[in-house]
Amino acid sequence: MAKMKAAVVNPKVNGFVEVVEKDIRPLAYNEALVEVEYCGVCHTDLHVASGDYGVKEGVVLGHEGIGIVKQLGEGVTALKVGDRVSIAWMYKACGACEYCNTGRETLCRSVLNSGYTADGGMATHCIVNADYAVKVPAGLDPAQASSITCAGVTCYKAIKVSGVRPGQWIAIYGAGGLGNLGVQYAKKVFGAHVVAIDINDDKLAFAQETGADFVINAAKEDAAKIMQEKCGGVHAAVVTAVSKAAFNSAVDAVRAGGRVVAVGLPPESMDLSIPRIVLDGIEVVGSLVGTRKDLEEAFQFGAEGLVVPKVQLRTLDEAPAIFDEMRAGKITGRMVIDMHKGASGCCGACGGAGH
Ligand SMILES: [Zn+2]
Ligand SMILES: [Zn+2]
Repeated sequence: MAKMKAAVVNPKVNGFVEVVEKDIRPLAYNEALVEVEYCGVCHTDLHVASGDYGVKEGVVLGHEGIGIVKQLGEGVTALKVGDRVSIAWMYKACGACEYCNTGRETLCRSVLNSGYTADGGMATHCIVNADYAVKVPAGLDPAQASSITCAGVTCYKAIKVSGVRPGQWIAIYGAGGLGNLGVQYAKKVFGAHVVAIDINDDKLAFAQETGADFVINAAKEDAAKIMQEKCGGVHAAVVTAVSKAAFNSAVDAVRAGGRVVAVGLPPESMDLSIPRIVLDGIEVVGSLVGTRKDLEEAFQFGAEGLVVPKVQLRTLDEAPAIFDEMRAGKITGRMVIDMHKGASGCCGACGGAGH
């Protein structure tokens, strides 16, 4: 049986990962084998490795995978050998329920998620369901595509959900890997005016460089007050920050009729003033990753150069170290594992560029 190398949740499920050799199982009906080129590392991976969403020992992590289709199982019509595809958080949905049939497939109650309830893309190989692997358009750098597969599409969808229109104001809370892409999509794709809020000045400087009209350091200033003063309150806010304070601030930052979209996942409750919600007609709504169609759109804007993820390439063998850095809060940019870089078993002839 063919083998692959993969970063898996260790047996103790204590937030540490190990890189192991695993058998590549045979393809089932409508599945395809993908040779992974790149896979981003996301905070969700750390939650899975830590057992925060249940004990998943041995599962192959990763839901920001990009790779090339190498082999087709029986019945595949959606893909062909040589296609470049994504391995996103939504590994597969049922395709038949109320949610799947109304454009809300991410809410499917029997969804499988890559790197959580299905083996993911943080490996040299990954098996995908052909109907759920989204094709990466020509002209989009595969390493950058890996960031759009999770962070990019999550922000793109959240901004769609916010209903913001060209010329209106939107606040993006959290200017890290996720929020920075939110700033870029909001400004360059949706034509909105953008306020970026964070507690880290470096991230704010990068937000300003990539399209924010103004930035606020919420550790030093009252973000909601400044937005009410400077632009009469924003029309919408997308909260990617993993902080209850950011959610509360967002409710105070929107103008009457404004909408707050929740994306970040702090494990706590937010405060909601009922008079504020009723009298000012404020809406608060959650948004979870994106559908296959959302991802296709988010990829295309990347291919057109409107949105440019900033990534830092690492090797698969460095996966345990990357998780250590995440646990220590030392990661600033978006870490992307380059499966060919320093791969054992690589002939070297490609100079690390891939085969
Ligand atoms: Zn992610
Ligand atoms: Zn379904």
